[in-house]
Amino acid sequence: MNNKTLQQLVDKNFNNYKKGKVADYIPALAKVNPKQLGITIYDLKNNDRIQAGDVDVRFAIESMSKVPVLLLAIKDRGIKKVFETINTEPTGFAFNSIMNMEINHRKHPMNPFVNAGAIATTSLINGKDAKEKFERILAFMREICDDPDITLNKEIYQSEAKTGDINRSLAYYMKGNQMIEEVPETLEAYFKQCSVDVTATGMAKLAAVLANKGVAPWSNQRIVSEESATIVKSIMTTAGLYDESGEFSVHVGVPAKSGVGGGLMAAVPNSYGIGVFSPALDNCGNSVAGIQLLKDIVQELDLDIFK
Ligand code: GLN
Repeated sequence: MNNKTLQQLVDKNFNNYKKGKVADYIPALAKVNPKQLGITIYDLKNNDRIQAGDVDVRFAIESMSKVPVLLLAIKDRGIKKVFETINTEPTGFAFNSIMNMEINHRKHPMNPFVNAGAIATTSLINGKDAKEKFERILAFMREICDDPDITLNKEIYQSEAKTGDINRSLAYYMKGNQMIEEVPETLEAYFKQCSVDVTATGMAKLAAVLANKGVAPWSNQRIVSEESATIVKSIMTTAGLYDESGEFSVHVGVPAKSGVGGGLMAAVPNSYGIGVFSPALDNCGNSVAGIQLLKDIVQELDLDIFK
């Protein structure tokens, strides 16, 4: 595939934004222009990338942050501690549902990609306070996305913090059940990690590291262990698209993670890291045009991992 073929697929899928709407439960996200679609594909074979559309537009990482933060928590605390705290089961419930904890008799959040599990993951990040935790998260995101310009979007952060009562209730529920300790500190770091601005290209690079067993293909430096890259791709496959993960797996078939900022990344083992951006979302909070475009790419390049 070349840039031209990719541009044709972007053009074909562009109008799918009309079938969704931008997230409005976070006021700052409601202002984003829905008419955007961009994709970067990082090809591990040629160590090169192809791209089309709005690939340099900055948008809020939102739930895609749950991937680098999980990787950092594993680096900080080890696989055993992280998965003693958070389970690895898909849920079928919306990303912010309290059911993601209640149904589990062991009283652990069900997986690191629902909000409860992500908040518990953030609580495991090393750092003496929220500021230090977030600085470490930001530095790690810059490294794994190979993007030194990733910064906190203060407007999004303020909006998240102001309207984050469901996340607060999840956090206090977990504290009440001894699943996490510090609520305000953890939530400050969590709201901030969701509010950094990234690009489709940066997300393609993060996905390329996962696809490449933890090694950055652009520098040949190992960023995370092979084991953590394998585990994270596996959880992306079962829980990466919230309560649409099963359908996505059936119809697209690659490990992926979405965010309500309109981002979608896919890590195709040993071949590609893909970053997509289109802000209009479906009912589950996933990018409508992003999923359709990714589906076309997977078909075109024959990437379905279950085939
Ligand atoms: N910051 C958002 C929240 O906590 C992230 C959710 C998402 O992208 N699904 O609600």
